[in-house]
Amino acid sequence: MDLSDYIIIFFIFILGAAFGSFLNVVIYRVPEKMSLIKPASHCGSCKTPVKPFDNIPILSYFILGGKCRHCGAAFSMRYALVEGLTAVMTVWLFIIFGINEKFFMYLILTYLLIVITFVDMDHLIIPNGFVLFGLAVLAVGLPMDWLPIDWEDGMSGAFVFAGFLFAIGLVGQFILKKESIGFGDIKLGLVLGGYLGVEYSVLALYLSFAISAIVVFIMLGSKMISKSQKIPFGPYLAGGTLLSILTTTPYGGNYILDWYYRTMF
Ligand SMILES: [Zn+2]
Repeated sequence: MDLSDYIIIFFIFILGAAFGSFLNVVIYRVPEKMSLIKPASHCGSCKTPVKPFDNIPILSYFILGGKCRHCGAAFSMRYALVEGLTAVMTVWLFIIFGINEKFFMYLILTYLLIVITFVDMDHLIIPNGFVLFGLAVLAVGLPMDWLPIDWEDGMSGAFVFAGFLFAIGLVGQFILKKESIGFGDIKLGLVLGGYLGVEYSVLALYLSFAISAIVVFIMLGSKMISKSQKIPFGPYLAGGTLLSILTTTPYGGNYILDWYYRTMF
């Protein structure tokens, strides 16, 4: 990489952070059925509009010390976290794919999954609108060959991903006598499987369940949650899926899958 590559990456990072700022608005406003445009960003406490120079993604949080300039009410650190996460993932996708249809397809999915992760954590729901949006993108992208998989693999992936979640949900219902996998998760599974195809769906499901098992085990052990508490599964599906995509090698394979096949066969 030479200097011009670093300059491009820097600009993509800034652009990603700006999109992260917009995702914060979506995360906060969509579940409350508020407009995405009006009113402009304002302090949740004193309602004073945030001035443009206090609205710089990531940086403003630290410049303002996490407080409203006007009334001193604390801002959640999560805004800066979402902006940082979005910026890093945007750059990461750019490094793997460059600028092409695949990059934009995966970028849309990544942004959608960041939003779903935090909405599900806050409200324990995955709004249908997000799922429909994902399906609409797939309905255009798959026939246009904008993904590395063909549409048949996408359809099979959707069936495998959602079907597996549905089956696990039934088993969970039977054993635990309570809902373990919600219908929102199953519907999201259609989008994720459609994006990933069968092979990557299996990888993403494996990673999702592995990560959730570890995290839930730690949270139960440290008494952060109780056994009866409802835990959102969307963030784990998002994590497993993003990990599967972000471990794609620049030449088309996948670091985790390559490692698996090398070790097992
Ligand atoms: Zn304020």
